[in-house]
Amino acid sequence: MKSNSKSKGTWIHRFAIRLFTFVLAVLIFWVLGFFVDDIRSIHGPDYANIEQKHLDKDLVAKRDALVKQIANLSRQIENQTEKQRVVGDSSRNLQQTINQLLELQKLGMQKSIAFSDTEQANFTSSLRLFLDNQKKYQELSQTVSDMLEQKQGLVREKEQSEQEIEKQRQPAKDEFNTLSKKHRLRIAFLQLAILLPILILAVGVIIKKRSSIYFPLFLAFGAATLIKVALVVHEYFPSKCFKYILISGLLIVVARLLIYFIRTIAFPKTQWLVKQYREAYERFLCPVCEYPIRIGPRRFLFWTRRTVNKIVVPGDHSVLEEKYTCPSCGCNLFEGCPSCHKIRHAMLPNCSHCGAEKEIK
Ligand SMILES: [Zn+2]
Ligand SMILES: [Zn+2]
Repeated sequence: MKSNSKSKGTWIHRFAIRLFTFVLAVLIFWVLGFFVDDIRSIHGPDYANIEQKHLDKDLVAKRDALVKQIANLSRQIENQTEKQRVVGDSSRNLQQTINQLLELQKLGMQKSIAFSDTEQANFTSSLRLFLDNQKKYQELSQTVSDMLEQKQGLVREKEQSEQEIEKQRQPAKDEFNTLSKKHRLRIAFLQLAILLPILILAVGVIIKKRSSIYFPLFLAFGAATLIKVALVVHEYFPSKCFKYILISGLLIVVARLLIYFIRTIAFPKTQWLVKQYREAYERFLCPVCEYPIRIGPRRFLFWTRRTVNKIVVPGDHSVLEEKYTCPSCGCNLFEGCPSCHKIRHAMLPNCSHCGAEKEIK
């Protein structure tokens, strides 16, 4: 019988195996991330299009025109105010000049010097200019205040149309929300449609190959897939829903672990093995590879686990027992007994002739 015991390896080997298991898990996680991201990049509903469908085009055009008019008017008001400021400055200058001229006249009168004709002319022209400026200033003020009034009217009108647009926008928003929700669900479904079969495959492989030497490989694969699935589920489903999924997943895993440990305690490994070997010998199959044990009258027959009870065995029982090795896997199945030297089962604990016991590893 071949030895089944595993060599543990040096610590550096064990460390390397753990490290590469982790790296492998990260890489697998990464690759799964590519799939998920590709699906996520599928375009969802376009809000601008939906809004266009729901809004009254004339109303939007009116609002846009109003915005333009208001901007235009604001610019004009600014220009007029600037003009008004310039006129105001020149008025103040003129006023100073007139004051100075008046002062001179007063002084002249005190010293009985008459105002010359040119001085008189200057004074008159300054005064006229000042009055003209004042008039212009008043006019500009009037224009600006008219414009401001007009602007206020336009702003009110714009606010009204904006309120109406907002009202029409509500159904557009509702439709967009519904479509977005549907799109999210579709994306989640697609992602899970890819991830879940991979997860099921990983779990299956882990359970089936839990005693394989390549177990870390499958473990990395399974862990990475499980984390990715959990993240996707958490992202797309409300946390309440996620909680239930997580809990049921954990329940299944914990229950499986529990069953596994209960069975290991209830049936220690050798007992378990002997049971398995015994069942194989009963069916004349190699306990290791299930190849038929073709000895005695069964030498020219072929059967499997299912067909073993259906084949007719020729009644020639005169053939002597002999040593036998499985031609398929090379395991020793019948050997000489060390105490009675007859032929015994190599993989069962006791000799069928003398009862000598043998340890099954
Ligand atoms: Zn075999
Ligand atoms: Zn014996």
